[in-house]
Amino acid sequence: MTFDNAKESFLTTLRRAGGLASALGLLYWDMMTIMPKKGAAARANVVGAMDTEMFRLTTSDAFGAAMDTLSEKRDQLSSREGRMLELAWREYERNKKIPTEEYEAFSVATAQASHLWVGAKQNNNYSAFAPHLQKIIDFSRRFADYWGYDDKPYDAMLDRFDPALLTAQIDPIFAQLLSGTRALLSRAGDNASLPAVTVSPDRQQAVGEYLLRVMGYDMDAGNLYTTEHPFTCGIHAGDVRVTTKYHPTMPLSSIFSVLHEGGHGLYDQNISEELDGTGLRDGASMGIHESQSRFWENIVGRSQAFWQVHLDKVNELSGAVMCDNADTFFRAINAVTPSLIRIEADELTYNLHIIIRYEMEKAIMNDGVNSGQLPELWASKYEEYLGICPKTYTEGILQDSHWSGGSFGYFPSYTIGNLCAAQFADAFERENGLLSKHIQTPEGMALLVDWQKRNIHRYGMEETPRQIMERVCGEDVNPAFFLRYMENKLADVYPGF
Ligand code: ZN
Repeated sequence: MTFDNAKESFLTTLRRAGGLASALGLLYWDMMTIMPKKGAAARANVVGAMDTEMFRLTTSDAFGAAMDTLSEKRDQLSSREGRMLELAWREYERNKKIPTEEYEAFSVATAQASHLWVGAKQNNNYSAFAPHLQKIIDFSRRFADYWGYDDKPYDAMLDRFDPALLTAQIDPIFAQLLSGTRALLSRAGDNASLPAVTVSPDRQQAVGEYLLRVMGYDMDAGNLYTTEHPFTCGIHAGDVRVTTKYHPTMPLSSIFSVLHEGGHGLYDQNISEELDGTGLRDGASMGIHESQSRFWENIVGRSQAFWQVHLDKVNELSGAVMCDNADTFFRAINAVTPSLIRIEADELTYNLHIIIRYEMEKAIMNDGVNSGQLPELWASKYEEYLGICPKTYTEGILQDSHWSGGSFGYFPSYTIGNLCAAQFADAFERENGLLSKHIQTPEGMALLVDWQKRNIHRYGMEETPRQIMERVCGEDVNPAFFLRYMENKLADVYPGF
């Protein structure tokens, strides 16, 4: 194969795979939002078939041969093409190790389990879900063996999300974070509280759309829908959708989930359009992606400055006074209290929920712990780290969708994201002065969005997460920034902290 033929074939395959990925994204979005429930079984097969088609395409011998030819003449590729080759080759090598039939069975099993999980969570029925979860655990253990690892099988799972953050790197980061978190937690004082209010889903939708606009999310290039477990779906350039869930008596839940998903949405909307169809149109890593969602949810969305400007408008759109004082509201939304639900946890104890899941995933992947043993392990970890214990599966092990989709190794990304977000905030302030000042004006917000776009978003996967951290922050993941940020914030939340 000539170099030119190889390049043509390589680029065409990536474009086709990109098209399939967009179609799959749309099918998934539909499945999790508006699909009639009787369509679930047939849809699982459609998703399985399309996913397998993409798998065949990107593991084909022709694609491998084209990449071989290009690898021999890497100096003739642009740096972007070199990165495209590097990432496509990594995926190819990984997927080639899985027999196609097994991959298809896995796709169908995860589509089924994702759907069943919704019902199991609603009905507090772990025993209906456990056999499906076990199937996915078994697949994951086999995949870890196919992929290979130096130390423990769990590393093969973590490697998918960030090859430079395996157990050996994460363990000391989490240990430092845990001891710092415990020290801060022990100093928390009395919490401010908010009046109980009820806000209808329609009004919560209006609040959500208002907040998305404030953040600079482009409503002509996306939308806000409801789902069981909020997520963001970057379908392709010009179509990046976010979702939320409305609990009428807990309007704050959707407010913070919209800010969170809006942060993911902004990232995806601001990736350079040149990267469509190159395999590089995604976040640098899930950790970096989560840093952007957590930045908007917490660093902006739980700041005093933000609510001094937006509380009145949000009260008005809600048709209910959630709080008439921005300072009290700020103290209430930052109250630190051990709780059962990860996505509703405060900023400090949130990471303990992640450390629990990280340890459970290690137990599943490295120590052979099976689905039947998980609820008990879950309860003992919540007791150990948060001093509380779930009374139902719904508020315990069934609360997250990740395992039903086979995403073992994803959870640490959230905490890595929290840590990186604090580092990005520090880098922003070194360049532009206090973030709180910028949060209070539309011009300042635009400057922040532009800073994120120029420094992080537009690159997509062109740079590695390590390169982004080094370039923007001058160093890799370091929990000291997050702990300092939390200490400063808690000093404003708790008098005499
Ligand atoms: Zn997220």
